Amino acid sequence: MQLIRQPNYDTNLRPFIVIWETTQACDMACRHCRAEAQPEHNPAALTFDDGCQLLDQIADFGAPRPLVILTGGDPFKRQDIFDLARYGTERGLPIALSPSGTPLLNPDNLDRVKAAGCKAISLSLDGSCPEIHDTFRGVAGSFQWTVNGWKTARSLGLKLQINTTVTRHNLFDLPKIFALVRDLGAMTWSVFFLVPTGRGLSEDEISPLDYEAVMNFLFDASKFIPLKTTEGHHFKRVVLQRSYLEKNQLPFQDYMHLNGTYNKLMEGLRDETVGMQAAISTDQAVGGRMRRAPMHINAADGFVFISLLGEVFPSGYLPVSAGNVRNTHLKELYQDSELFRSLRNKKELKGRCGVCEFNYICGGSRSRAYAMTGDILAEEPFCAYQPGDFPFAIAGQEIA
Ligand code: SF4
Repeated sequence: MQLIRQPNYDTNLRPFIVIWETTQACDMACRHCRAEAQPEHNPAALTFDDGCQLLDQIADFGAPRPLVILTGGDPFKRQDIFDLARYGTERGLPIALSPSGTPLLNPDNLDRVKAAGCKAISLSLDGSCPEIHDTFRGVAGSFQWTVNGWKTARSLGLKLQINTTVTRHNLFDLPKIFALVRDLGAMTWSVFFLVPTGRGLSEDEISPLDYEAVMNFLFDASKFIPLKTTEGHHFKRVVLQRSYLEKNQLPFQDYMHLNGTYNKLMEGLRDETVGMQAAISTDQAVGGRMRRAPMHINAADGFVFISLLGEVFPSGYLPVSAGNVRNTHLKELYQDSELFRSLRNKKELKGRCGVCEFNYICGGSRSRAYAMTGDILAEEPFCAYQPGDFPFAIAGQEIA
């Protein structure tokens, strides 16, 4: 099994995922909102015709077509969203939507998503209960609307990704969120690590050592459900390290610098998986294989974000523009802009990321580096790893 998945084409030439911010309108008031969502749709946004031209530009990358995520705000706040989705699917694009957990997440709208030819949706779930999730999202009832929409989407045969943003407010709720995802069923649990941009506040961040703890917990949890990280690229380094240690039956606690947060998260994971666990391979680790290997993509390298106004960003959390799709083809901006080329060149990374033996699969979050330092090439501020610290030469051996 590949420990890190690679798209089977050159990500210098085409993205694996294109995310389009179709609107910033949303009825939620989430404390970490990237888009700083507003109640009403901004009339300066890309129009229906602009949107169709954008979808044409994405289709121009050719087969295999990039996955297109229509995000927001809440895409259901945009009247023409189903027509846009249908236009994209008729051009052969795989399209997914990421609606918000509001009353608009209802069977009628989900039916229309399905009828437009979409195969998947993603929903945000930031707590295992209304008390945690609704506080986070700023609207009472959001937890229940999300769970109801989740069940409806499953009954319609839509694939589902559940997104959870980790902050100090839900850190120790992660095992229970894991259990909910497992029990209600999802294609993937996507764990987002906070980027202090938009309404995302740096004081809500967990510490670098807690990042390490969560990523090691996720490695263990990945034996039970398929999961991935977003803006948490050093998870790929953790996967390589832990897989090597497991394979060689070495005690991971001796090498991974884990704190009490990890032990507490693992207590929770054990409680939630009683009777399910595969063989215990080392001290506290869960045996078995990961259900889903992480994908080797990063900002500008397999990934591109189109803003409300058509600006082309390397990521939704990295608001630096390579140009605008209203006057330059997306393909040209993705392939040839100095910004995107520079981000794909790992030799330009600075600080620890610049000398790290894992930077070829990781490179850190360029969004978090930019949000915290103003430099897109600065070292990842929330990685605790000291390059060269892992005593085994495993870099480059990600095929198990
Ligand atoms: S130092 Fe940078 S490249 Fe190395 S693991 Fe950490 S974030 Fe990744």
